[in-house]
Amino acid sequence: MVKDNNCGYCVGGEPLAKFGIKICDLEVSQLILFKEQSHPGRCIVAYKDHVSEIVDISDEERNAFFADVNRAAKAIHKAFNPDKVNYGAYGDTGCHLHMHLVPKYKDEFEWGGVFEMNPQKKFLTDEEYSEMIDKIKACL
Ligand SMILES: [Zn+2]
Repeated sequence: MVKDNNCGYCVGGEPLAKFGIKICDLEVSQLILFKEQSHPGRCIVAYKDHVSEIVDISDEERNAFFADVNRAAKAIHKAFNPDKVNYGAYGDTGCHLHMHLVPKYKDEFEWGGVFEMNPQKKFLTDEEYSEMIDKIKACL
């Protein structure tokens, strides 16, 4: 397994805690709750290894990764009933394959537009994060 000691997805702990909370492991990835919750239910699915590009993994691994993304999206739909889930894969500086799953709600924040990477507007209490994580887990 390829790991990078400076990468939050690889090492967890403080580097991850800056932006996310691990919910659980999926088949070839981990599901992470994004702390900035302007879009209720926003999550990240991060691939298990520190690889930059979708073209750097095998067909089988890529299919398994997208199955994980699909599983997470289904849980988000079920738990939060968004009008649309937006998907974003960037990582210009992080270089660890991951996808943002951003639930969008009609007539609410950024509906009809591109989601901001980290608007830094809405953070929850630890208890609210726990409730949200339990809700997602119950729908996986
Ligand atoms: Zn990494």
